[in-house]
Amino acid sequence: MRLPPEPPFDPEAIPTDAVVSRGGRDLRLTWANGEEAVLPAETLRLRCRCAWCTRDRLQDRFPVTFEAIAVTKIDSLGGYAVNLGFSDGHARGIFPWVYLRDLARETAEERTPQAA
Ligand SMILES: [Zn+2]
Repeated sequence: MRLPPEPPFDPEAIPTDAVVSRGGRDLRLTWANGEEAVLPAETLRLRCRCAWCTRDRLQDRFPVTFEAIAVTKIDSLGGYAVNLGFSDGHARGIFPWVYLRDLARETAEERTPQAA
């Protein structure tokens, strides 16, 4: 059985460049439309949507911070998502590009609320 990837899928959410920088502390993304984002590893770790993290959140066992966390692995998954591994050993998170782009926009708004 073939399942479509995380509908609705927007091909424009796929970045032209995805680079782990600052020793894994940041994930830098660039899109074809000129949009750029720097996603801190901690933000990504905190927003992991895998079944384990989701369960821990429901059980109030999910950490509120991940100090000095770094991205240690980034693997493309079928073009629509990446699997990220973190320095705490957690590597189950699947991050669809659409989700990362939303997260990037959300983070950018928090940082610069005055920007258009
Ligand atoms: Zn997770």
